[in-house]
Amino acid sequence: MASDSAGTINTAEIRERYAQERNKRLRPDGNDQYLEITGALSHYLDDPYTERHEREAVVDHVTVAVIGAGFAGLVTGARLKEAGITDVRLIEKGGDVGGTWYWNRYPGAQCDTAAMIYLPLLEETGRMPSEKYVHGPEILTHCQVIAKHYDLYNKALFHTCVTAMNWDAEAKLWRITTDRGDAFTAKYVTMGTGPLHVPKLPGIPGLRDFKGHSFHTSRWDYDYTGGNSEGAPLDKLADKRVAIIGTGATAVQCVPHLARACKTLYVCQRTPSSVDTRNNEPIDPQWFESVTSETGWQDRWLENFAINQTGGMADEDLVQDGWTDLSKRILSRIVDLPPEKMTPENMLAAFEDADHEKMSEIRQRASEVVDDPETGEKLKAWYRQLCKRPCFHDEFLQAFNEPATVLLDTDGKGVEAITEHGIVIAGKEYAVDCIVYASGFEVGTPHERRAGFDMQGVGNVPLSQHWKHGMRSLHGVHVHGYPNAFLVQMSQGANLVSNYPHNLTEAARTVAAVIRHAEARGSDVVEATAAAEASWLDYIGTSSGFLLDSTDCTPGYYNNEGKERDADSAVPLGHPEGAVAYFTFIKAWRESGEFEGLTFT
Ligand code: NDP
Repeated sequence: MASDSAGTINTAEIRERYAQERNKRLRPDGNDQYLEITGALSHYLDDPYTERHEREAVVDHVTVAVIGAGFAGLVTGARLKEAGITDVRLIEKGGDVGGTWYWNRYPGAQCDTAAMIYLPLLEETGRMPSEKYVHGPEILTHCQVIAKHYDLYNKALFHTCVTAMNWDAEAKLWRITTDRGDAFTAKYVTMGTGPLHVPKLPGIPGLRDFKGHSFHTSRWDYDYTGGNSEGAPLDKLADKRVAIIGTGATAVQCVPHLARACKTLYVCQRTPSSVDTRNNEPIDPQWFESVTSETGWQDRWLENFAINQTGGMADEDLVQDGWTDLSKRILSRIVDLPPEKMTPENMLAAFEDADHEKMSEIRQRASEVVDDPETGEKLKAWYRQLCKRPCFHDEFLQAFNEPATVLLDTDGKGVEAITEHGIVIAGKEYAVDCIVYASGFEVGTPHERRAGFDMQGVGNVPLSQHWKHGMRSLHGVHVHGYPNAFLVQMSQGANLVSNYPHNLTEAARTVAAVIRHAEARGSDVVEATAAAEASWLDYIGTSSGFLLDSTDCTPGYYNNEGKERDADSAVPLGHPEGAVAYFTFIKAWRESGEFEGLTFT
């Protein structure tokens, strides 16, 4: 069996071990293994943070309806206001702005990408992050600051889900209804509904039978656990046996808090995460002032990270973190190749070598940090680093040295069953008082299921029908047949996974530029042509977008749970030359003022 001992790396052995570990986890049901949270399970979606107030239904007209008030909606609203479009309404299912950071208030929630580039509009709002990787409450506050700074609370509708959005071709506007009885119209609509916002539950037999307490990490029940999202100890768990199911990026952040608080904490693991060092540190105000003195600093940082993280050659590495480290390692190996050996095969081999080296270090770290050697072994991730979401933490592995923590490794099989009183793994029942589902969010389910509505465009064609054979867009923003509507997300655009907000700030700039242009020339309707949409898809079709979107990887949401994608879902994901090329292209497209591919009438 492959090991990383004595610093030697045997590529063939490691490949073999990776394949074995992957095969253990392959299952025929793919995405269907998860439970949709509906019906009797709906209480898992209740908002534990903000009381829902009754209000009058809204019946009026706005210039722009912005669906979703997370980062996407906030940056869109901000850029629209900057462009002089003031009549903007946010519509949001949560009780406030924040999106991901509204819902994910689990203890230890923290951004994994450096705050200098992760937090949008730092320069515009004049704010300094307190740490290199800031914690959830500070991010939520930042969202609220953006909303106040740009006057986005005015007209916002919270605890409100859009139920229908239909294009009225005669009136040339969108008709929107919601679950609060609202029926209003908007000249333009933008959709920033987010990629990971619908919690899912594992389809473990017996889940509904459990008689103890349970909740999903994105609806943390502080009434039950005690403590708060600011980091106060979870003081009501001292006499509780708790099982947490899942060891992804969320569990990695909250396990240390549970480990310190519970009488017994069972960490139920199906696939170990790769957990590299975090090395968080406070931001020094003097340093911050020195690096942000020039206008446009955040755009420079964003660009620098995007270049470094996607294998480009920047003069320096401003962010210096785990994301750029891997890319720099790969690049340095490629640069070391003699010119005659600079072939695609050798470049891929250099990438693989750098990856094996990095993953060996990460596995070694588990052995060094965890006191019990057997537990340390079980916490080792046997796959290439970008097969799953890389994690960074300085207390997760250490949590397995706490006396209360027990790792229940399922050898890739998952929790076998849930009973009235506990969980079953390898035929053994573990009695627990509480189950915390750190089981992630829906990915790969139909867009309309996640959005909660299926917008109807020209000729009442539902978006699901236009996308029957996969997503179709121009630049990831415009969709032919859906005039005056804009997507604010990353697919078919930059697809920069390591810094999601960067995709959003660029999309928001594009939306604001197009709407400003339409308004300035007095247009009623702006729409992508069918030809422009088709030619963009052809152009980006030469790339799969994800570097390792492959069935060679251990299953997860990055690779469709290990299942071959059918033709309809194997759509191109990003610019063939990468994120930086997209950002350069779209900036030039906007600034040309031509808006090629769109018609304004
Ligand atoms: P994930 O989908 O990444 O993890 C779900 C976990 O549940 C996995 O460990 C999965 O195992 C496990 N699981 C599922 N079914 C079972 C089962 N039947 N038995 C046992 N275990 C099971 O969700 P997360 O909430 O952790 O993270 C989602 C995403 O959110 C991240 O990938 C990241 O993009 C983002 N995130 C970002 C953070 C940040 O930036 N700071 C922090 C947290 C999350 P398996 O791996 O085998 O499928």
